Amino acid sequence: MHKIEHIGIAVKNLENSNQLFARLFGESHYKVEKVDSEGVNTSFFQVGPNKIELLEASSPDSPIRKFIEKRGEGIHHIAFDVEDIHAEIARLKEEEFIVLNETPKRGADNKLVCFVHPKTTNGVLIELCQEIK
Ligand code: ZN
Repeated sequence: MHKIEHIGIAVKNLENSNQLFARLFGESHYKVEKVDSEGVNTSFFQVGPNKIELLEASSPDSPIRKFIEKRGEGIHHIAFDVEDIHAEIARLKEEEFIVLNETPKRGADNKLVCFVHPKTTNGVLIELCQEIK
């Protein structure tokens, strides 16, 4: 892993939060994307060199809905940029972390992604992401 790719924030209402974070950052989001495989609507903000992803549930069984019910709105995950996601998944498994999907899946923003169970990372959901070239 070399750097934080983005930070994901769970929100109840994407439209309202897009406005709120635009006021906070002084800049609007640069894209909105629906990710059906994850049951989420997302939007992305660029803040200097950093990226923030907002996530809203798009279906009743969305993990974001469950997260907000349990813990409220707030930081949902931290995503790290990796060069070779397959190698990184193998390394983390060897280190006894639990990965939620052993086969990387297509996430938002043209990325292959894999999540690491927060149970094994002090309660922090970690996302690995590799840019699809
Ligand atoms: Zn993410």
